[in-house]
Amino acid sequence: MKFILDTMLGHLVTWLRLLGYDTLYGDNLSDDELIEAARRGERVLVTRDRELAQRAVKGLVRSVLLDSNDVVQGLKKIQSETGITLVFSMDNSRCPECNTVLEKLSNQPPRWVCVFCGKQYWVGGHWRNISKTLERLQT
Ligand SMILES: [Zn+2]
Repeated sequence: MKFILDTMLGHLVTWLRLLGYDTLYGDNLSDDELIEAARRGERVLVTRDRELAQRAVKGLVRSVLLDSNDVVQGLKKIQSETGITLVFSMDNSRCPECNTVLEKLSNQPPRWVCVFCGKQYWVGGHWRNISKTLERLQT
């Protein structure tokens, strides 16, 4: 499943990419362009804009309407409405910056690299925050 997210949802773009989902951020697109991009890429449109969500559905584009800015609430809603199960594994992550699939650079210590933008990722303090947030998803 692939996603395109409406403006103001940048924090969720980062999360979905980390969780391995091909996710575009449409913050510079008009409503028409968002719907068209979703249709063309067969992406689920995620938005907080009720009107846009309704227009998407009329255009036969699947959409998820969020009612809060909270990350956990947002991920929960995406999970329940699309039927996906969000699981975090760095071996299945995409670069939060540019959406490219990460490649493993080394095992000891575990390190991953984005071959597109060159950013490197490893298990650090952010790992605990990710785990904590995902635990809250299960409750
Ligand atoms: Zn990158």
